[in-house]
Amino acid sequence: MRFDSVFFAHALTETAVGHATLFTGAQPVAHGIVGNEWYDLVQKRRRGVVDDASRRLLGASSPLEGGLSPALLRASTIGDELSRASGGRALVYAVSLKERGAIFPAGHAGKAFWYDDRTGDFVTSEYYFLEVPPFLAAFNAARPVDRYKNGVWALLRPASEYLHAKEDDRPFEQSYRGLGRTFPHPLESTPGDHVRTVKRTPFGDELTLELVRALLDSEAFGRDEIPDLLAISFSATDYVAHHFGPESLEAEDNLLRLDRTMAGLFEALLGRVRREDLLVVLSADHGGPETPEVLRARGIDADRHDTAALVKELNDALETRFGTESRFIADFTLPCFWLDEDAVRTRGLELESVERALAEAVLARRGFALAVTKSDLLRKSLPSGVVYERIVANFDRERTGNVYVVPKSGWLLATDSGGLTTMHGTPWDHDVHVPLVFWGAQIPARRVTRPVDPRDIAVTLAELLGVPRPSAASGRVLEEVVAAATRD
Ligand SMILES: [Zn+2]
Repeated sequence: MRFDSVFFAHALTETAVGHATLFTGAQPVAHGIVGNEWYDLVQKRRRGVVDDASRRLLGASSPLEGGLSPALLRASTIGDELSRASGGRALVYAVSLKERGAIFPAGHAGKAFWYDDRTGDFVTSEYYFLEVPPFLAAFNAARPVDRYKNGVWALLRPASEYLHAKEDDRPFEQSYRGLGRTFPHPLESTPGDHVRTVKRTPFGDELTLELVRALLDSEAFGRDEIPDLLAISFSATDYVAHHFGPESLEAEDNLLRLDRTMAGLFEALLGRVRREDLLVVLSADHGGPETPEVLRARGIDADRHDTAALVKELNDALETRFGTESRFIADFTLPCFWLDEDAVRTRGLELESVERALAEAVLARRGFALAVTKSDLLRKSLPSGVVYERIVANFDRERTGNVYVVPKSGWLLATDSGGLTTMHGTPWDHDVHVPLVFWGAQIPARRVTRPVDPRDIAVTLAELLGVPRPSAASGRVLEEVVAAATRD
C-alpha cells in the first residue's frame, strides 16, 4: 500500500530530525532532536546530536576518538515500546551508513550499528554493548570494504538506457577525494581512499546490506511468537545527491543500484522469515531540492549561500548597527545563527534587539524567505501559516539558536556550504515530502492519496503490534493499513 502525499510537519528536514520523528511518531519539539548539530552555549562550540564522550565506540580495528549514544533523545521509539512490552525479548536492531541513521531508529532499548569512514569498519558503542559482539568482530575482520580497493563505480546498464546519459559532466557537480564528476568514478585515487569514498557511492548501501545479512545470520529474527524490529537506513542516496545532484546521471544509477540492493534485502529476509510474518515499511528521513544551477536554467530564482562569507558580512552589519567592535555572531549551524550572548550583555545591549537587527539584516539579503527570532519563538508571537507552524514544531529552548532562518526554495543553505551540490533542510515541499509504502502479508496493493504524516508510521505499528504508542507520539493511526492487516 503506497501513500503518495506524505509530508513532515517540521522545518529542519535533516537526517537526525527525520529518523527520530519516524521512530518516535513525535514532533522534534517533543522528542528533542531538532537538528544534526547545534552550538553549545556553555561549552562555546558545536556539538553533534549523538555525541556522548562517556560511550566510546566499539568494533573498529584501531581505537577511535569520541563516543556516541541516543542520550539526547527525549521520547521513546516504537522499538522501545516493543522491547518493553515483550520484557526485553523482542529483537530491536538498526543498521545504517550514518550513525544518526542507526542510533535514533534503535531508540534507547535497541542496538545500533553504523559505518565508520575513518577505518572502514562497522561500529557500535558502549551504550549498546560491553564488548564487541562476535558477529561484528568477524564481519570487520574479513574487511569487506577492501573489495572496493582500486574499485570503480561504472554505469550498471548501457548508457543508452539512462534518462541523463548526456548530462554526466556538469561543472557544478562536486568531486570528492578523486571520485571525479564523470563515469567511471575511481574509488581509490590515493591509497586507502576507498574507505572514505565508498559511502558516497551505491557500494555504501551494498556494504550496509552485507552487515544486515551477517546480523540476520547471527540473530534469530522472526523465529518465535514475539515480533522483532530491524531498521535499515540506506544512506548513499543522500550522499550522491549532495555531491552530484538528484537529477544527475550518478543519482539515476544509484537508484537502479539501490533497487538491486533492496531486492537483495528482500531475498535475505524471505530466506529466513515466512512471508506472512513479514511487514516492510519504506520511507525516508527527508526529501531534497534540485540543484540551483538546474533550477536557474529553467528561469527559477536559485543560488547557493556561502555560509562563511554570510557570517562575516552579517557580523559586519551588526557592528555598523551597534557601533561596537564585537563579533556578535558566535556560529551558524543550519538553520540558526547563534549569538555570543555574553558579549551582547557585556555591551549593555538587549539580546532581543540584537536578534531583531540580525533577522532584519538577513532578510535584507537575497535568497532568504524568513528569519525568526528566538525571542518571538519563546513568546509564541509568530504570524500564522504552515511554515511558521513547522518552525514551532522544530523549536527547543536550548537547542535552537537566536535567529532561525529559512532560505527561499532553490537557495542552498548549509552549516558548511563547501563541497555541496545540493542541500535539503528547509520546510518547503521538496524537502518535507517523502515516500511511504507498507508491504506485507495481508496488505493489498493500493494507492492512497490523502495527506498523511510520517509520524503516523510509529503509531500505526504500535496499533498493529498491540503495544503502547511511543511516549511523545502525536501521529494518527493509518486506518487503511490497520483495516487491511487485521482482516480475517
Ligand atoms: Zn543530506
